[in-house]
Amino acid sequence: MSDCIFCKIAEGEIPSNKVYEDDEVVAFKDLHPQAPVHFLIIPKKHITSLDHAQPEDEPLLGKMLGLTRRLAREQGCENGFRVVINTGRDGGQEVPHLHIHVLGGPRPWKRNEF
Ligand code: AMP
Ligand code: ZN
Repeated sequence: MSDCIFCKIAEGEIPSNKVYEDDEVVAFKDLHPQAPVHFLIIPKKHITSLDHAQPEDEPLLGKMLGLTRRLAREQGCENGFRVVINTGRDGGQEVPHLHIHVLGGPRPWKRNEF
């Protein structure tokens, strides 16, 4: 997916503020944070959305969900966090590469978009 912005971030072609990386997954801070802590977790493999994930992607999805807890804590979420996966046009997804939003930090923070 040569035109995909998140594929380019995964490949390091576009700079990002990475908080985690391994052979399958990258996590980086959201460019327009909606909370004191706001980062995204993406698969390096291009998957357009949760609606496009295949059964064989489920171990990867499970790993990404498991990472939310660890990375949220590392990023300073001491009292919980919110996980959001916007999916498809009616799900409000703007970037067509599957990503998990992790939001947290001390309240109050803007809630209207998530
Ligand atoms: P969604 O509406 O769920 O597709 O969310 C896309 C998110 O990606 C938004 O919160 C954007 O702020 C974020 N975003 C877009 N481009 C970048 C980028 N280059 N680096 C970091 N975050 C980005
Ligand atoms: Zn992609």
